[in-house]
Amino acid sequence: MIVEMRAGTTQEEIDGVVQRAKSLGLGVQLNLGTDITVVAILGSNTGQLSTDIFAVLPGVERVNRIMKPYKLAAREFKAEDSLVSINGIEVGGNRIVVMAGPCAVESEKQLAQAAKAVREAGACVLRGGAYKPRTSPFSFQGLEETGLKLLARVREQFGIPVITEVVDPHHVSLVANYADILQIGSRNMQNFALLTSIGKSQCPVVLKRGFSCTVTEWLTAADYLLAEGNSQVILCERGIRTFEDSARFSLDICSIAVIKRFSHLPVIVDPSHAAGHYSLVPSIAKAAIAAGADGLLIEVHPNPTEALVDGLQSLTPSDFARLMAELKPIAQAVGRHI
Ligand code: PEP
Ligand code: MN
Repeated sequence: MIVEMRAGTTQEEIDGVVQRAKSLGLGVQLNLGTDITVVAILGSNTGQLSTDIFAVLPGVERVNRIMKPYKLAAREFKAEDSLVSINGIEVGGNRIVVMAGPCAVESEKQLAQAAKAVREAGACVLRGGAYKPRTSPFSFQGLEETGLKLLARVREQFGIPVITEVVDPHHVSLVANYADILQIGSRNMQNFALLTSIGKSQCPVVLKRGFSCTVTEWLTAADYLLAEGNSQVILCERGIRTFEDSARFSLDICSIAVIKRFSHLPVIVDPSHAAGHYSLVPSIAKAAIAAGADGLLIEVHPNPTEALVDGLQSLTPSDFARLMAELKPIAQAVGRHI
């Protein structure tokens, strides 16, 4: 249930709504917008309650039910677009934010070369997995804490923020000590213990779409992060599994428009995991920007032929620099810049 307060409402009136919700055993989340304040009333039985319980309170303009499974990620709760700030870089604003780097952190040399290349080409965040959620237990699992230390060292050296994946709820504070953005991988989109733990951390987070999940399930997963008070949530479309097998996954370009319509959260696109092949990445990246994505997450390796993970879908530094140049006019055409 969404309680919309009148313009110019007082703190006392807002407190009145919060108190009424609490007295009924319900949770609340406030959206203190520039013009109006919205109070989300959260609980499993709000559907059985009359909206009049809140509509009669002083300062209340109107009360609406959100007829969707997700509440806090919904536009009904927050009409204006959310911005996520990473060391002064805003995701969801006018600038297209490009995050790029290797699939996995392999060595200091590899990571430093990647950081230099992607930064020079205009990326503003370095990616690199220290913990890799691999389909097979026999595949390279990542350098783990050693990888985190390399990320932190390269971040200092090049002055570029880093994004890396967390796979275990118990690792959240460890990874947050080294990284600027936590990544929740596709395979963990519905790992609710992980979502709750990252929600409590307040660290900016990229929530990838589960490759067999609907947009509604994805936004409802985002609610787990938002419900814990972490408002720094960025969604990432990375392709879903369909009958089509000519690319690794099918990039759901539609989801970008759907997210923009139904949610206030910023959404970026990972063309690399959707494509599965470096030759397909540029076209998909361009389509994503044209469709309204707020950024990109792209795999770039200094030497893809020697990559331990995902070499086939990784761009070389020169391919990446070319793509960045080609993206500029597309961003401009949709009123953005890179
Ligand atoms: C990744 O970005 O490193 C990754 C594993 O991607 P996904 O979770 O989308 O498969
Ligand atoms: Mn990868």
